[in-house]
Amino acid sequence: NRQITLHSRPVGAPTAANFELKQSAVASPVAGQVLLRSLYLSLDPYMRGRMSDAKSYAAPVALGEVMLGATVSRVVSSQHPDYAEGELVLAYSGWQDYAISDGVGLSKLGSMARPSLALGALGMPGFTAYMGLLDIGLPKAGETVVVAAASGAVGSIVGQIAKLKGCYIVGIAGGADKCRSVVEELGFDVCIDHRSADFKQQLAAACPKGIDVYFENVGGAVFDAVLPLLNAAARIPVCGLIANYNDTALPEGPDRLGLLARTILTKRIKMQGFIIFDDYGHRYPEFFAQMSSWLQAGQIKFREDIVAGLEQAPQAFIGLLEGKNFGKLIVQIASD
Ligand code: NDP
Repeated sequence: NRQITLHSRPVGAPTAANFELKQSAVASPVAGQVLLRSLYLSLDPYMRGRMSDAKSYAAPVALGEVMLGATVSRVVSSQHPDYAEGELVLAYSGWQDYAISDGVGLSKLGSMARPSLALGALGMPGFTAYMGLLDIGLPKAGETVVVAAASGAVGSIVGQIAKLKGCYIVGIAGGADKCRSVVEELGFDVCIDHRSADFKQQLAAACPKGIDVYFENVGGAVFDAVLPLLNAAARIPVCGLIANYNDTALPEGPDRLGLLARTILTKRIKMQGFIIFDDYGHRYPEFFAQMSSWLQAGQIKFREDIVAGLEQAPQAFIGLLEGKNFGKLIVQIASD
């Protein structure tokens, strides 16, 4: 059983040296347990937070422990009354080939044509996009919605749902290929490259009526460009701040806190953070039913970036924080 553990805590951007590949014997399940084979492992930005021991909403991974993460897994052998050999489940096995589970936190996936979707459009990222946009963003037809990391797991769905609600959608992504795909494949009205020298001007030109909903995935320079364009009564679901995850200290001044607070006050802006399962877990069934029907009808498209081999997980994860992924990042550990 290959396992990738947290060897040391990163200072700044994670490196390969923060991870260690270990081998252990595959355990056998005892009464009340199942043995799971990981097929797909989800790699997500929140894992950067769990590598750090700074105080946060969830406990860090301990040094020497297997890196955590959601998996689509197959039951290899079962001593559990609710699970049969061969069943496909959504599990939290982490970065390893096999895991023992007592059934807590497992959910059955039945027979899915594309099981990896349980980690993407039909799983945590899709649910995040759906709740953040609809419950906090409250988009109305005709409004302008802006979302960054627009080709990624969450952002791609935010834009497509907002489009279904009749909004004008401006995506922000890194590079020409991602921007082209966001417009041509996902149907956003326009997509701006945040790495362009004149990004601020391009964003302003793309939002002639200002911004009503800004779905915050990145923070940093993107938020600086968005702030002056916000309309009165704009809503900002604060989902993630990936531009800051590797920071070791607050960025250099000037101090813009006063500008931010004044904008919120004078424009009556609502900004609200959320942690998806903590805040909205009870609404997962509603989301699942709606998203399944949108996917089936082809109204929502979902791009995956599948990397082959557990041993590739550290490099793929490091790349996620640099924008190297193109779509939902998933490691295929074994074939389904
Ligand atoms: P993505 O698939 O979107 O991948 C991350 C992307 O972030 C990269 O591909 C890159 O895209 C972009 N990015 C990285 N650094 C920067 C930067 N400095 N400036 C601008 N863009 C950057 O990841 P997810 O969809 O899984 O996650 C998106 C956000 O949602 C993250 O912030 C994540 O933490 C958050 N999240 C929050 C949840 C919650 O419960 N609150 C739940 C799930 C996710 P590009 O090349 O286009 O710049």
